[in-house]
Amino acid sequence: VVSRLPAVGTTIFTVMSRLAQECGAINLSQGFPDFSAEDLLFERVSHWMRAGHNQYAPMAGVPALREAIAAKVAALYGASYDPETEITVTAGATQALFTAVAALVHPGDEVIVFEPVYDSYVPSIELAGGVVKRARLSAPDYRPDWAAVRALVSPKTRMIMINTPHNPSGTVWSPDDMRALCDLVRGSGIIVVADEVYEHIVFDGRRHESAALYPDLAERSVIVSSFGKTYHVTGWKVGYVLAPQALMAEFRKVHQFNVFTVNTPVQLALADYMMDASRHLGLAAFYQAKRDVFRAGLAGTGFELLPCTGTYFQTVRYGAISDAPDTDFVQWLTREVGVAAIPLSAFFGDGRDERVIRFCFAKRDETLEAAFERLRRFC
Ligand code: PMP
Ligand code: GLN
Repeated sequence: VVSRLPAVGTTIFTVMSRLAQECGAINLSQGFPDFSAEDLLFERVSHWMRAGHNQYAPMAGVPALREAIAAKVAALYGASYDPETEITVTAGATQALFTAVAALVHPGDEVIVFEPVYDSYVPSIELAGGVVKRARLSAPDYRPDWAAVRALVSPKTRMIMINTPHNPSGTVWSPDDMRALCDLVRGSGIIVVADEVYEHIVFDGRRHESAALYPDLAERSVIVSSFGKTYHVTGWKVGYVLAPQALMAEFRKVHQFNVFTVNTPVQLALADYMMDASRHLGLAAFYQAKRDVFRAGLAGTGFELLPCTGTYFQTVRYGAISDAPDTDFVQWLTREVGVAAIPLSAFFGDGRDERVIRFCFAKRDETLEAAFERLRRFC
């Protein structure tokens, strides 16, 4: 078979979760909670299933859910999106991102991404025939260098894909970053894809910098979020996209033929559940406490903690423990120490290795304690 993606292997999340399982290691690699969502959410799914809502939802999503999303976005970001024409429910953020690229990138178009980059972006661009341009973010703080980003812009630049709060680094963009992005795209035809799946996981009183807060950006942005992250149900694979009507019309042309529509009773349950805003607004404090437990738990080990201002990921340097490449180090950590993590080189096209790994702290305190015990013994 002549591959369309010759350089692509199996995603690092699958590789590390499988290894963790084989070794009986505590899995702090792939990002997902090991605790349950509230029973009420399950009760709502069951309610809508029993009430007979088990056939296709409308292509763009159940109206009640689109209305609930519009209300949330208006309340949090002061932005108005029409549920009829500007909001679409997707099968998670991965599908939303893939569909946005497939719908909007033409062969030969250039797309700017920030490296380390979430692993689904580049393959989606390559399948669309786009050309990837990489802006480098570096340890310890992974802040964008806007002069360097500006140097990547050309008449062929079609899209910039941003991600704040950022996976894997846990960095949250500042208002200055957003203004720099506004300046960069003003007067151009560049489309922004804003991956905001961690929008509710921002720490220390910071504000999530949604593209929806900036009219100059919102008018050209496809904004992506995910209920999996927000309500502790990553396996449900439901997310959504916000975009102005003209962009959304193109998005839906593709969406209708790659998924058509998303699980009906789950959408109805999410619509009920998200009416109580405290459920998403409480997430920041919930994960900030876990971040603090995690950072305190690694004190006294050889790991150097990098800043973490959002997401449920903590990056660390391990140079004081080992000089092995990061892919070897996580193998050792999983097999010998019994704790799995993600090597950051997986998020660089050239495999750049800054000797940094990522832990996921979306875990029960008992799980974290058990991991600390192992890490303190060996690291
Ligand atoms: N973007 C980022 C930055 C992510 O971290 C993730 C999931 N971990 C996704 C997209 C995909 O989200 P979903 O599971 O809803 O497809
Ligand atoms: N986004 C999650 C992470 O960063 C994993 C999702 C996946 O496995 N594709 O760990």
